[in-house]
Amino acid sequence: MSYNLDNTPEHLKGPLFQNALQAIDEAGTLMKIDPNILARLKSPRRCIVVSVPVRMDDQSVQVFTGYRVQYNTTLGPYKGGIRYHQKVDLSEVVGLAALMTFKNSVLGLPYGGAKGGVTVDPTKLSRTEKQNLTRRYTSEISQFIGPAKDIPAPDVGTDPQTMAWLMDTYSQEQGGFTQPGVVTGKPIEIGGSLGRTGATGLGVVYITERAFEVQGKTIKGSSLGIQGFGNVGSHAALYAFERGAKVVAVTDLDGGCFNGDGLNIPSLIEHFKQNKTLRGFKGAKDIQNNELITMPLDALLPCALEGVIDVKNAASVGAKMIVEGANGPVTIDATKLLHDRGVFIVPDIIANGGGVIVSYFEWVQDIMSFFWEEDDINGKLKSIITKAFNTTWDTAKEKKVDMRSAAMGVAVKRLEKAMLLRGLYPR
Ligand code: NAD
Repeated sequence: MSYNLDNTPEHLKGPLFQNALQAIDEAGTLMKIDPNILARLKSPRRCIVVSVPVRMDDQSVQVFTGYRVQYNTTLGPYKGGIRYHQKVDLSEVVGLAALMTFKNSVLGLPYGGAKGGVTVDPTKLSRTEKQNLTRRYTSEISQFIGPAKDIPAPDVGTDPQTMAWLMDTYSQEQGGFTQPGVVTGKPIEIGGSLGRTGATGLGVVYITERAFEVQGKTIKGSSLGIQGFGNVGSHAALYAFERGAKVVAVTDLDGGCFNGDGLNIPSLIEHFKQNKTLRGFKGAKDIQNNELITMPLDALLPCALEGVIDVKNAASVGAKMIVEGANGPVTIDATKLLHDRGVFIVPDIIANGGGVIVSYFEWVQDIMSFFWEEDDINGKLKSIITKAFNTTWDTAKEKKVDMRSAAMGVAVKRLEKAMLLRGLYPR
């Protein structure tokens, strides 16, 4: 589907947001959503663009551009990560903020959706420069964020240390009073939650287990392939391995490795740490990145980038199931082609929800100043993510649609109910 974009502002024309608009429209038809609600859901509430001047190590000043898009706040405070990447622009951030809105809704969390970012290659910054950038960016958006307003988190290019600087800057600007609830994904020592680092990967595996289960299969003994061996991919590989899955193939930026009997994931994590590549792993065959897509697998877990499976390569996908660890790895049109071929796809807004669910637990723990045990956290994570899967699965069966359409349908329906209850301000 394509829209006439003649009178559309530039920042609403990005492919990620156009993809989201298509999904919103389809959910509207599927769930018979009030057209006034649908119109409101198709527009970001607030887009903040800030200038971020940074003193570099050579004493020059570089000016970066930062963004925070607050998409929808009906269900609670805004929530979404902050990305540092050279390709970040306003249109990408709008698309990601929309995605967060529907993710938080389908997961049943008390949050609206937001996303932020700075256009910068973080690998080119020294630690001091990254800290300067984070502090100035935080200061520029500080009036718009807060534990009851908007709670950022890490995303690509940012990490717990970045969140620590953000929390400290915000707290200093609030008179020096520590405000741990302003951000999640912090180090444990300053109000972070146990289980947060591996939460997205663990959530991906809980969902993979459940998806096998509803198809009368088990994760134990199944063959899995994983694209991307970063935070999400490496944790997903480890937790799947611990459950007896055969993780036969894993790839990262410069290719990967394959062993038909299953790779030893703890050893592979060590190998990757030491060599910064998956290639050359003992007992495994090196593979090219694109070989993974065509490999006959029980499940493929794309955990790296968006748009890696589109209409051009959908026909060559060899897996029976795809669980989207990354955001948007399979386009909507490719989903339809694959669904028609019987490939079961669990969409990102459920499959990678583990991170934001444990972020939610972190925020609750910070507000209560009472911290939970990891078993407790993982149990609650499993319960919330499985519930979201089950509601979506029931909707998919009832409406006879793929899981992505069903998940969007559930998300949009929950938002519609809440928006109708709250009404339109001023009237
Ligand atoms: P990360 O940077 O830790 O890992 C990504 C990995 O993918 C890196 O190792 C990178 O080298 C690799 N990669 C890049 N291009 C690749 C390619 N073409 N083929 C194979 N590998 C490639 O990032 P992450 O935190 O693991 O996030 C991965 C994805 O998951 C992103 O889409 C992110 O938005 C999404 N996500 C992450 C979280 C989280 O909690 N970290 C939560 C929800 C969604």
